[in-house]
Amino acid sequence: MRIFFLDQSGKLGGAELCLIDIAKPYCDGALVGLFADGEFKNLLQQNNIPVEVLTTQAIQVRKESSLLPGLNSLGQLIPLITKVIIKAREYDLIYANTQKALVVGALASFFSRRPLVYHLHDILSTEHFSQTNLRIAVNLANRFASLVIANSQASKTAFIEAGGRRDIVEVVYNGFDPKIYQTDKSAINKLQQDLELEGKFVVGHFSRLAPWKGQHILIDALAKCPPQVTVILVGDALFGEHNYVQQLHQQVAKLGLQNRVKFLGFRSDIPQLMAACDLVAHTSTSPEPFGRVIVEAMLCQKPVVAAKAGGAMELVEHGLNGFLVTPGEPLELAQVITTCLQETEITATIAKNARITASERFDIATINQQITQLLSHLMSA
Ligand code: UDP
Repeated sequence: MRIFFLDQSGKLGGAELCLIDIAKPYCDGALVGLFADGEFKNLLQQNNIPVEVLTTQAIQVRKESSLLPGLNSLGQLIPLITKVIIKAREYDLIYANTQKALVVGALASFFSRRPLVYHLHDILSTEHFSQTNLRIAVNLANRFASLVIANSQASKTAFIEAGGRRDIVEVVYNGFDPKIYQTDKSAINKLQQDLELEGKFVVGHFSRLAPWKGQHILIDALAKCPPQVTVILVGDALFGEHNYVQQLHQQVAKLGLQNRVKFLGFRSDIPQLMAACDLVAHTSTSPEPFGRVIVEAMLCQKPVVAAKAGGAMELVEHGLNGFLVTPGEPLELAQVITTCLQETEITATIAKNARITASERFDIATINQQITQLLSHLMSA
């Protein structure tokens, strides 16, 4: 099957990392068309997945944009859409992996008469999107997509509640290769030394720095934890959230936590860094559509504490293979961190359960089979 994947981003977010795993089995006949240059292109190339940057002009419209910038950007999109229509004729299927890719892919699907699949990595609610963008996404998906792949039940439910067609949406979780999360003990010791983490109880937070990812909640919680607890914040402001980064540094200084919080920026050695932690915290203040970092921590056999909302609730069973806390509640989070620090035996059992369930539920081979089945069914129909 020849698939034309489309993604708006040049940066490495969860949707982009997921697309690499999905595109790999199809790489012989596939092309990933990007609307921006950047690290994502390099990683696709390293994985031998054909990739082309289709425009160098930044598309101005944002998730929270209203109608006017949206209409302005349509003019900007015409050369890109034309290019995508022409290219799409060389492929069997268009696979839109992001919202702007859906807009371009929908028009290309109409004019090139190729079926459209939309991989929905978002919770389509007004917490994350402007009313206008939400309506555009749902209407385009309803009208042009033959299949919507939602990354969790939570994303599926939000899509339907926003007016999306129930008959075209299927849930497929992100897949992971468990082998990647088996790390070498001596390399981890070295990493702990380099980062000066030895002898500390390390809580890792792995996410781009953005207000709704809630790094500030973890910093507040840290102030209520015993002194040996240290936090590493792994990730960068990918979409211009520089004010938030500044606020985080100010918050750390105000609470006198400079020696207990390390900002590590964007890293590509996530399994190793997770292995160097004692606990992984996920603190999103709005419902997380899926939460790749939660599964990654589970695969690393690390206890994980996640905000109880959205997709996270489908990944973690509280007290069995992880912990769930009320979103935006630092005190509750601090209590779980302190329990994990003190109750090492039960926490280790929970982490072990986490690895077993995550390996079973999110194995990349099984997930890719589900996607192949859905796409084959679509093509035969
Ligand atoms: N990630 C990474 N380097 C970083 C921070 C995060 O590679 O410095 C990865 C992380 O391991 C995960 C993805 O980025 O696979 C984030 O996905 P998630 O679903 O957690 O959040 P999203 O970015 O999709 O909102």
